[in-house]
Amino acid sequence: MFIHIDIDSFFVSAERSVNPTLKGKPVAVGGRSNLEIFSRKRTHIRLMDDNSGAFVAPVFYSDHEKNFKEKFIDIIDGREKIRGIITTSSYEARAYGVKTAMPIAQALQLCPQMIVVPSHYLLYHKLSHQIHAFVASKIPVVEQFSIDEFFGDLSGWVKEEDAVAFAKQLQAELLAQFDIPVSIGLAPSKWVAKLATESAKPYGVYLVTDTQAYIQNIPISRFPGIGRKLQEKLHTRGIKTLGEISLHRHLFEDWGRSGIQLYHRILGSSTEGINPKAGRKSVGISRTFDPLDDPEEIRRRIMIMARHICYIIMGLEVTPTLYYLKIHYQYGVRAKQSRRVERLFTEQLYKETLTDIFAQIVRDDLSAIKLTLNVSDFTTGHPRTLSLLEHDTDLKARALTEKIHEVRQKFGLDVIRTANEL
Ligand SMILES: [Mg+2]
Repeated sequence: MFIHIDIDSFFVSAERSVNPTLKGKPVAVGGRSNLEIFSRKRTHIRLMDDNSGAFVAPVFYSDHEKNFKEKFIDIIDGREKIRGIITTSSYEARAYGVKTAMPIAQALQLCPQMIVVPSHYLLYHKLSHQIHAFVASKIPVVEQFSIDEFFGDLSGWVKEEDAVAFAKQLQAELLAQFDIPVSIGLAPSKWVAKLATESAKPYGVYLVTDTQAYIQNIPISRFPGIGRKLQEKLHTRGIKTLGEISLHRHLFEDWGRSGIQLYHRILGSSTEGINPKAGRKSVGISRTFDPLDDPEEIRRRIMIMARHICYIIMGLEVTPTLYYLKIHYQYGVRAKQSRRVERLFTEQLYKETLTDIFAQIVRDDLSAIKLTLNVSDFTTGHPRTLSLLEHDTDLKARALTEKIHEVRQKFGLDVIRTANEL
């Protein structure tokens, strides 16, 4: 029996655990694209020194103490304008139609009495780490799947007929210990357990014994990993529910390994187990800003974001082998490229590669509005290098990157900036 635990409206619940007056009311946690990093002055960056949960970037800005007005209201031409988007909303707010990623201004029109709290990532990060440790003390094999989700394998630990009682007990203990409500799904396979949690929300426990009967009428969009594109593909074949999937095995087989994997995940015939070592699979940063048409300034911003990625990567002690850059321009135009780099990770190599990608995808006829940097496909060992010469260069650059990282850990992330950021 697999168990999946998901914290109910996590960021809101976290805020409520430190401020109980928010309980029972429509509440949302809001976020704003943090543009402070692009400032030419020193920024106020806080560094996390406990390298615990790997789901929150270990770089924080000390602005979470700002109140709503300071954080979300801009004065433009003498008029107040509400900026920012909803990150998480409480069930009371969702009843009014408030949704994640909705502009705060729009959400407040739907629900004017809603309280919007600026996000407080240090608190979420700490709670996530503590709850992971607590769950791991109750279940021998636990995988942290995201900042607020955990998988566990109960086989050989809890008898099947006791699974629901076990889950309810765990749910009550988490509430008593952390004042945090969770929902729990139980099923004979891992991904169906995750689906079952959706049926349990909010603050419930849901057990699936007969997978085929359970998934029969559930819309395909509800299954983890079925995005909009795949939904459209399936809709054109007349497939609307998970129950209909079993009639189309050949279709999934045509999509290769990932198609077959998804097929088995949905039908509960996947043999995937719990991976306690699974952690972060990529590191990314994105920033949205007012339209910007100066390529030099765009390039400078990419270099600043690259420095932040370097800091996180050096802290995690992993070697990414896939670098990715995406530029959103106005009018929905996107330019992106990823590059496979099987070399030792260094700040110099990373920034050089990004400069190169940027030169290839930059558009001088459009204004940029968003930048996304991402690195993934981590290895922990030293990747294969292409030539001795490169290896030598990489080792020297690596020694320098490590020195710089040490200094940044002590004195702050922006104490050393490289020339290409100026
Ligand atoms: Mg959740």
